[in-house]
Amino acid sequence: MAKSKQFKKNIAFVAFDADDTLWENEPKYRRAEKLFLEILSKYVSEETILEELLKTEIQNLPLCGYGTKSFCMSMMETAMRVSNLKITTEELHKLYEFGKSLLKHPIHLYEGVEKTLELISRKYPVALITKGDSLEQERKIFTSGLMDKFDFIEIVHEKDEKTYLKLIEKYNIEPAQFVMVGNSPKSDILPVLKIGGYAIYIPARETWIHEIIDESNINCFDNYFKLKKFSEITDVLL
Ligand SMILES: [Mg+2]
Repeated sequence: MAKSKQFKKNIAFVAFDADDTLWENEPKYRRAEKLFLEILSKYVSEETILEELLKTEIQNLPLCGYGTKSFCMSMMETAMRVSNLKITTEELHKLYEFGKSLLKHPIHLYEGVEKTLELISRKYPVALITKGDSLEQERKIFTSGLMDKFDFIEIVHEKDEKTYLKLIEKYNIEPAQFVMVGNSPKSDILPVLKIGGYAIYIPARETWIHEIIDESNINCFDNYFKLKKFSEITDVLL
């Protein structure tokens, strides 16, 4: 982080992404992919299996959106396709049950999240902006115990420039009064920088490949900050 970078003082609110910013989420998908490989490897090469799964997930996004239910559907669809419908009902059942269990996955907050949110909220209103299935995201937010920490919560289908502009209009602020904190360069950082907001990127241990972009696309913006740990947000904002 460049020391010379400073926030303007008229920030209206600081918004946080949820999955893999406040708590760990992505590793559960890696565990599902491990089981997927174990079951499917007798039908097709391991490399093809994951490539095909990713392809199906991306193709299904406009129809099914993000989240565990959509991921499960893509696993089942890919399993049937790459096995030429040879996958057994017992194998499909295993995938289905594992996928369903992910919906009840416990929430583990990252270190320092609660305390940092508390400190930030003393100076700025704080918001949660997350994308995905509303029921699944609501359950995670509730389970996290952080529900009361936020002044408002927005669950959206996509986090692109259009969505952020709509939110900025809804809350009647200018883009330069808005700070977004998140782990996804594609969803939390680039669109916010493009509309003139501030973005704080905190890379997670694992991030879905679809959310990664070349960092040269975001490094060039003045309003961009990259931190190692969640608790470092106070160094930038307070
Ligand atoms: Mg995230």
